[in-house]
Amino acid sequence: MEAKQRIEDLINRLNRYSYEYYVLDHPSIDDISFDNLLKELESLEKQYPQYALPDSPTQRVGGEINKDFKQVEHAFPMLSLANTYSKEEIVDFVKRAEQTLGINNLEWVCELKYDGLAISLLYENGVLVRAATRGNGLTGDDVTANIKTIRSIPLRLQGDGYPQRFEIRGEVIYPKKAFEEFNLQRIENGEEPFANCRNAASGSLKLQDPKQVAKRKLDCFLYFIISDEVGQTTHYERLRQAKQWGFKTGNFFAITDNINGIMDFINYWDKERFNLPFDIDGIVIKLNEVKYWNILGSTAKSPRWATAYKFKAEQAFSKLKNVAYQVGRTGIITPVAEFEPVHLGGTMVKRATLHNADQMDVLGLCKEDTLVIEKGGEIIPKIVEVKHDENLLHSGKLEKINFITHCPVCGAKLVKEEDQAGWFCPNYNHCPPQILGRFQHFISKKAMNIESLGGEKMRYLLDNNKVSDFASLYDLKKEDVIGVYFSVDGKKVSIQDKSADNIINAIEESKQVPFERVLYALGIRYVGEVGAKTLAYHFENIDNLIAASIEDLLNVEDIGQTIAESVYSWFKNEENIREIQDLRQKDLKFVVEKQDFLNKLQGKSFVVSGTFETFSRDGIKKTIEQNGGKNVSSLSKKTDYLVCGEKMGPEKKRKAESLNIPMITEQEFLEMLK
Ligand code: NAD
Repeated sequence: MEAKQRIEDLINRLNRYSYEYYVLDHPSIDDISFDNLLKELESLEKQYPQYALPDSPTQRVGGEINKDFKQVEHAFPMLSLANTYSKEEIVDFVKRAEQTLGINNLEWVCELKYDGLAISLLYENGVLVRAATRGNGLTGDDVTANIKTIRSIPLRLQGDGYPQRFEIRGEVIYPKKAFEEFNLQRIENGEEPFANCRNAASGSLKLQDPKQVAKRKLDCFLYFIISDEVGQTTHYERLRQAKQWGFKTGNFFAITDNINGIMDFINYWDKERFNLPFDIDGIVIKLNEVKYWNILGSTAKSPRWATAYKFKAEQAFSKLKNVAYQVGRTGIITPVAEFEPVHLGGTMVKRATLHNADQMDVLGLCKEDTLVIEKGGEIIPKIVEVKHDENLLHSGKLEKINFITHCPVCGAKLVKEEDQAGWFCPNYNHCPPQILGRFQHFISKKAMNIESLGGEKMRYLLDNNKVSDFASLYDLKKEDVIGVYFSVDGKKVSIQDKSADNIINAIEESKQVPFERVLYALGIRYVGEVGAKTLAYHFENIDNLIAASIEDLLNVEDIGQTIAESVYSWFKNEENIREIQDLRQKDLKFVVEKQDFLNKLQGKSFVVSGTFETFSRDGIKKTIEQNGGKNVSSLSKKTDYLVCGEKMGPEKKRKAESLNIPMITEQEFLEMLK
């Protein structure tokens, strides 16, 4: 590929990966691959500077701005760290610093590289006044309320001698044990588990409700005081001082004036990291004498007085035993490799997802293969390569493993949809794992919110024929739910008197759940929370929705072909219609109630852009909906208003002008509600 084209391709891909990593907390490639692509881009841009683009990820600190929070500017840029997976490059880094400063045997502090997200805390007169994320390095999110829920962060400092106003930076982390419990809970609630502690920490700080953040048991290590007014002249002494003021600074540091000392620290923690109660993804090496920091300075992305050595994902080899196939709530079939148990990343692993049939083909999976399994920061191990059995290969007896043709549970012939990598079991109404998955979705928090009835209790009720369809949940009596079940991690739990009462009450209360959430709870494929809301507000009641043609559905803003077809065919299924009639009898809500919104913005569609004073981003959207308006994600001729916040994108403004869409300020929006 020609250099210019390759540069453009890399920029596009890396920007997309960064978005998935920082904004969605849902990375689609591993860090090593990301870093290798970034290195390739850096070297191409050096070779062909004429093709470098302003939106290149080499030009900026990785994080993104999250518009849901008030934005704050950092007094000093919050940079990232240069990083490498190579020990030789660490040696080069140390030599370079020594040469620039003309000093041999400089003193270095080695620290753990906590795998969470960077935070900046501002203290005035010893009191925490603001906490901000790194964002794009210059501007971050004000997450003060969320940070205050972390018990180890002092709201007021101990002792004395601290500067009147100063900033301290560190890393918010999710301790492993709390993370595992939290993920188990998510699985029980039918929610998707987080991939790793870092994603979960980052996702938690983005929550709008501090009460929810408090439940997450986050922790924080502080590693960097920024102030000219602290007496201590070395980084190490400053860390010790920070500890005396009440900050949690961690217990594992080393000071060394030679490369062997640095390597010893790296090698020790490469092995020992799995025994820590939190995740680290490397080692940070920082120059101890603060006075040299300014001399060495920094690049646009990272300081020149510190660097990070990143650990490679650990690999293990194991013999394939079997490929099992799981059936999801929507009927999607996921192949899972089962292999001889091996020790990897601090735990025993014996299963890894193979994702789908295409992935199995890419790997060329055969019977008797040896698998190369990897586990980076991720909880879920993955298979990166397979090695065929030499004897079988040479004797021509290698047997490829073909994807199954029929559902492993109900036996229905599998189907594949165009443009989809996965195969589906079409036996929607009668395939047991699909039924269980749908029940778990139905009771989940964002749906009917029958939280006290977790996913595994739900399994117990189904297995024991206490429920048969959603409506039968509403016939349950206390004595039906008393019994013994097993939690996801295999523990025996019994449902006693009190929890049985809670379950029955929660089921009763769920009758008050508004129509849009009932619609979401039905689990129609491709209809997520937002889609359900859009459909509910547009059609106002279930009868209109049942009667809607594909064209009617496509006329709804933000509803595309895939959703329209899925909704249409769902309502053509007689069993589904019967289910709805039964649920109606149980008094569930199938009509948007007028008190759900005040009608001030009835029928109007809005695009919001930028940040607002009175509202968070979610808040303004909610207000629009509560008043009968509709949020749309992009401007079109059908949009009624563009609500302009601070730092609105210039592209949006241009587009609104060209389409003649009225642009209103936050104040004007508030006026409309009066
Ligand atoms: P980074 O995670 O490589 O390192 C810099 C960060 O380390 C600092 O900002 C700080 O938050 C943290 N840190 C932890 N302990 C520290 C300590 N003791 N002292 C100082 N800092 C410490 O850099 P980043 O900018 O946060 O993220 C970039 C990296 O993220 C990439 O190199 C890549 O590995 C990964 N990434 C992956 C994807 C993907 O799709 N897989 C996408 C984007 C980024």
